[in-house]
Amino acid sequence: MPEKRRCPLAGRCGGCDHVNEKYEDELLSKYLEEEQFLSRFCRVSPILPSPSITGYRCKVQAVFGEDRGKAVTGIYRRGTHKLIPVRSCILEDKRASDILSAIRTLAGRYHIKAYDEDRGTGHLRHVLIRCSAHYDEALVVLVVSSFDIPSASDLAAALHQKLPYVKSVSLIINTEKTSMVIPQGAKEKVIYGKGFIMDRLCGLDFRISAVSFYQVNPRQAANLYRIAMNLADLRPDDTVIDAYSGTGTIALIAAASGAGEVIGVEANGDAVRDAEENAAINGIRNARFAVADASKWMKEKAKEGMHCSVLFLDPPRSGATEEFLAAAGRMDPDRIIYVSCNPETLGRDLRYIYRFLPYRARVIQPVDLFPGSAHIETVYMLDRI
Ligand code: SAH
Repeated sequence: MPEKRRCPLAGRCGGCDHVNEKYEDELLSKYLEEEQFLSRFCRVSPILPSPSITGYRCKVQAVFGEDRGKAVTGIYRRGTHKLIPVRSCILEDKRASDILSAIRTLAGRYHIKAYDEDRGTGHLRHVLIRCSAHYDEALVVLVVSSFDIPSASDLAAALHQKLPYVKSVSLIINTEKTSMVIPQGAKEKVIYGKGFIMDRLCGLDFRISAVSFYQVNPRQAANLYRIAMNLADLRPDDTVIDAYSGTGTIALIAAASGAGEVIGVEANGDAVRDAEENAAINGIRNARFAVADASKWMKEKAKEGMHCSVLFLDPPRSGATEEFLAAAGRMDPDRIIYVSCNPETLGRDLRYIYRFLPYRARVIQPVDLFPGSAHIETVYMLDRI
């Protein structure tokens, strides 16, 4: 039986569409959305529900502000710049709520003020927290106006003392007029700990740093990766590509699940560094990674005559490109496993594949990674006709 949930802020914050519904109703509306975009290609399997529907979010981003001189943290109301204070969010890991509460208190003690975007005064703009699902470890990033905040290290040490699972605190500068919490290429300065924490998924350890992509619901992500591996049915003579590989989760789980050789491709250099480190931590020797735009890399490698037997791809919400899919076809894989967080772009990419490539979808499996929110993840497998 899923746990009960009720959010008093749902109407004001706008972050979640389903949080005050029964979970069965949420799953039904997500299933209908999947069917709308995907059922013309293949029967859509029932959604895999999340093992927990509250407290599952291990990544939390909060806006830091002030209300009548007191520190507050919260979220901008959807589509606005109005800060809605949030004392605790039912979707978030309890440790993140405790960290935010401690930061509100410590900011006052160490005279760290909220950043005022219009005037360019103050220090702290956002707080990013990542908690490990497996280990009792959390990483905190203070998104600030400058590295020159002398009391920040004192705040970091006090935070660790109060909540010993805070293993790392760093500063990242953001003074741009942007809604992005961390702009691309922003500089980071670690002021406490090592700058990363560890999590464990599908029997492997993964290093999570401030800016690399890592699934927000790791327990359900592990189920997603297991489904992807079952569909891939890897053998020692398989050569595997994992495109949009992030910190190497899929590539390394594939490498440890019996694949011969695995290559991950990812545009973010920090994520690739994490992926290489993750390979070393887990003693994996049959995986390597390239920093590149996935479409350009695929096109170039296809031109050089590279083949692969299994292709995984897990692109951002915008989906794959036609260039990517055309090159994928030329690499002639036996199976393609596509992990998508957007059924609409997935439907678009499937239309392209059905029109131009000799592959057909055999399994479409939605996985609920984001209970309460409108998002849904899908993994599907195509094989050659
Ligand atoms: N498979 C990983 C990450 C998926 S998220 C996991 O499950 O954790 C999508 C990833 O695509 C991100 O790491 C992002 O940095 C990367 N990305 C975005 N655009 C890209 C591009 N054009 N080429 C290669 N990687 C890209």
